[in-house]
Amino acid sequence: MDLPLIPGRECGPCVECCRFIPLDLPELAKPTGSLCAYCVDGAGCSVHAVRPQTCRTWFCVWRVVELSDAWRPDRSGIIVRPDGLTTGEITLYVVRRTDFLTGDEFFDTVAQWLSEGLRLALSVPGPVGTLPVRAEVTDYLLPAVAAGDTAQFDQLMTRCLDSLAAHEFEPDGIETRYAVI
Ligand code: SF4
Ligand code: SF4
Repeated sequence: MDLPLIPGRECGPCVECCRFIPLDLPELAKPTGSLCAYCVDGAGCSVHAVRPQTCRTWFCVWRVVELSDAWRPDRSGIIVRPDGLTTGEITLYVVRRTDFLTGDEFFDTVAQWLSEGLRLALSVPGPVGTLPVRAEVTDYLLPAVAAGDTAQFDQLMTRCLDSLAAHEFEPDGIETRYAVI
């Protein structure tokens, strides 16, 4: 990612990308949804100094955009994916459903993004070893957002996430391989 990181912001105990983002590198391959074996849950990477280049350069959007601490993925259950950001599309990878999704802060932030003309997509993980599914939902959510109708927005979000979760998930085809050290 080319965007600079927010100074002083650290991942802390969050390890959600090390769990939910698949890796298929020569030196490290791990399926979607399985915590990297080099990761200490709640603490971070145990091979930080020699981690793959991909791990050095991949950051979720919470690390580069002024979102509150409540948006940190281990708290919110949402990894805001960096891909698409520079072309005006935001993908919320909802790895866990939390109360944050029905809170005012989430609604207000989504409303702000849509008012700026950004497009919104939702994505959810399937069983371990399968590819996440994703759908663009801007037009579906927009009327509720424009009306400030948080109750309808919550219903539509739930419907979207339920629909995605019921999708047939394709295997990611990744065979576990650990050769960093
Ligand atoms: S998901 Fe974001 S905050 Fe969490 S460990 Fe990855 S980069 Fe850090
Ligand atoms: S090598 Fe480290 S940074 Fe990369 S996925 Fe594993 S635990 Fe995370």
